[in-house]
Amino acid sequence: MKKIAILGSTGSIGTQTLEIVGANPDLQVVALAANSSVEKMEAQARTFSPMVVGMWTEEAAKDLRERLADLPVRVVCGMEGLLEIATLPQAEVLVTAIVGMIGIKPTIAAIQAGKAIALANKETLVTAGHLIIPLAKERGVSILPVDSEHSAIFQSLNGENPDRISKILLTASGGPFRGKTRQELEEVRVEDALKHPNWSMGKKITIDSATMVNKGLEVMEAKWLFGVDLPQIQVVVHPQSIIHSMVEYVDGAIMAQLGMPDMKLPIQYALFYPDRRPMMGKRVDFFSLKQITFEEPDLEAFPGLRLAYRAMEAGGSMPTVYNAANERAVSLFLNGRIRYLQIAELIEAAMDRHQVIVHPSVEEILMVQQWTEELTDKEVLQC
Ligand code: NAD
Ligand code: MG
Repeated sequence: MKKIAILGSTGSIGTQTLEIVGANPDLQVVALAANSSVEKMEAQARTFSPMVVGMWTEEAAKDLRERLADLPVRVVCGMEGLLEIATLPQAEVLVTAIVGMIGIKPTIAAIQAGKAIALANKETLVTAGHLIIPLAKERGVSILPVDSEHSAIFQSLNGENPDRISKILLTASGGPFRGKTRQELEEVRVEDALKHPNWSMGKKITIDSATMVNKGLEVMEAKWLFGVDLPQIQVVVHPQSIIHSMVEYVDGAIMAQLGMPDMKLPIQYALFYPDRRPMMGKRVDFFSLKQITFEEPDLEAFPGLRLAYRAMEAGGSMPTVYNAANERAVSLFLNGRIRYLQIAELIEAAMDRHQVIVHPSVEEILMVQQWTEELTDKEVLQC
């Protein structure tokens, strides 16, 4: 029996993780956490009988506590609750399916407590990878990628010598606006940006895919997970999302993982690694697919990707500025406060004003996050 805790259980990755738990009797959920969806959490608690559940706000926790009064489950809240769930003695694996930098502290606490991490929450690695990766090594804790590209790279590294990697080919669908010029992107609406051609995901990552900031975050995620240098990571636009990423070795051989675009595969792989469990679902049919295609990313139309390379090259606290400005800008865009193109503009404006801290501590990362959010809000008020 493998015991798991999930941060962000009501979201896209969280609910798909629970589907996998439902299909595999040797997985057991011991704790769940979510932001504010009390109804969904009540249903999950009744189905999966965790020992502890957490809601972000006190109000939501109080409501949930009343609803679950008939069950032997403890309801916790806030950061304290997230930390308790992340370090619960009964859990072996923590699935980080929470969105944003809020995942930093619980992820670090879980590693310190010796939990394996099934990592979907890429923002945490982007901003605190320099602390998390060495800590995981020191504690002998595995960080298993859930992001489909990183899972594909991880699978393509099976049995290989990591010193023989020549480069990582990180595939990108190009999102809903692939092929559009900057001018054509001026008037796009929130509804357009939320229509991803291949994947159904949470709102934040769907917008990140439309700006290609998601790919920028994934370049940084790959750097930390696989210990490669930036020039060794090449983004390849592959609109069909069948090749989930590739590794080229020093002899020119390329290993890839292919499959239908379905997040359940990488989630399940992370939960059972190194085993592969059967999974229902559509299979790739090469005869109906007929062809798969490749393009170079358009850095002019999608400056979010270019800025990610700049942030990573600057290093230290700059990826935090990149990520925090994006988190803020995406939320402003979703609330109709700014236009689509302003997302990248706001990221760049914050990066231009930032003095890099070379090896930021968690507290410094969170201070930089706050500085960036305030600056971004001010910038928008001035428009
Ligand atoms: P989502 O918005 O669908 O779900 C986010 C979850 O986090 C929800 O359960 C929400 O309640 C919870 N949450 C948010 N703030 C919280 C807080 N303060 N306290 C407790 N819980 C909180 O997001 P998602 O699409 O599932 O993405 C989750 C993470 O996985 C992101 O980092 C994303 O980049 C990454 N990811 C997602 C996909 C995907 O297919 N959805 C693919 C790859 C990577
Ligand atoms: Mg991805």
